[in-house]
Amino acid sequence: MSEKLSSADSGDPLAIGVDIGGTAIKAAIVGIRGDLFESFHEPSPRTASALRDFVHSVLKCAKIPVEGIGIGCKGIIDAASTRVKSLPGDLHFLEGQLLSEVIAAGDVLVCAENDARTALIAEVLWGSARGRRNVVMLTLGTGVGGAAGHLGHVTLDPRGGLCICGNYGCLETHFSLRAIESDYWAHMHRAASVKLSTGSTGQRPDTQAIFRAAAEGDESARCVIDRALEYLGAALVSFLHTFDPEIVILGGNIAAAGPQLIAPIQDKIARRTRILLGREVPIVFQKTVGYGGVAGAAGLIFLQQGLLAI
Ligand SMILES: [Zn+2]
Repeated sequence: MSEKLSSADSGDPLAIGVDIGGTAIKAAIVGIRGDLFESFHEPSPRTASALRDFVHSVLKCAKIPVEGIGIGCKGIIDAASTRVKSLPGDLHFLEGQLLSEVIAAGDVLVCAENDARTALIAEVLWGSARGRRNVVMLTLGTGVGGAAGHLGHVTLDPRGGLCICGNYGCLETHFSLRAIESDYWAHMHRAASVKLSTGSTGQRPDTQAIFRAAAEGDESARCVIDRALEYLGAALVSFLHTFDPEIVILGGNIAAAGPQLIAPIQDKIARRTRILLGREVPIVFQKTVGYGGVAGAAGLIFLQQGLLAI
């Protein structure tokens, strides 16, 4: 599926940004000001050739030459070589492969980076972190991405549940779409008081519905959200103490919950970090919501080509 957004100014450098996620793959033709000219998305590829076909179809739509193709991908990506070093889950077939070889775009430059880092690059180039050098960003979605190391996999509870990464009690097992939805499902399964029900085809309530239900007085939903926020707050306190950042950016699908997400924990975080940091660190939302992944992936190309600098 593709959507024409606007027409490129003549002469402005363009790059293609690709965001390979667990459920969908997105791409866009992106201008040097971070503006998207045309966007594309379809369900995540299940083979390397499906990924190549998708990117080539986008490349064909670009019409004028692009500076390169930037790729943001889940997992551990070696940016120097574009090799996918580790990628558990549905995109496992990419593990060990060089994305530049998979894409096989001839002379066109291909760069790759972890998707949480590309989202941060978009924020630094065009979003909330413009001009900042010391930023912590968490992308809160199906899992939790961190732009420095693997922040979603810090241990919050050493006796907690097993995580996709093999560790126990990670932030991701407590605060992610899957964690919130499975916790609410556990309440339903225990026949606790719940206001939401499974859909006609048996699908379980999603995080957005659970946030809404919590606001409308569903006690189980409130319990689930309070607990999840408690863990997110504890993790953020640790990140503030560890990195002493100028700003914290929350991105990803869950961040769309907006003020409802931040207000309850902001005070608590400020109180718990006051003594060591001596100042309140702003916790803000991602500006490039919904397109940060593709924009930041294209940003990789602008940076590599020396057209932009951080
Ligand atoms: Zn983990």
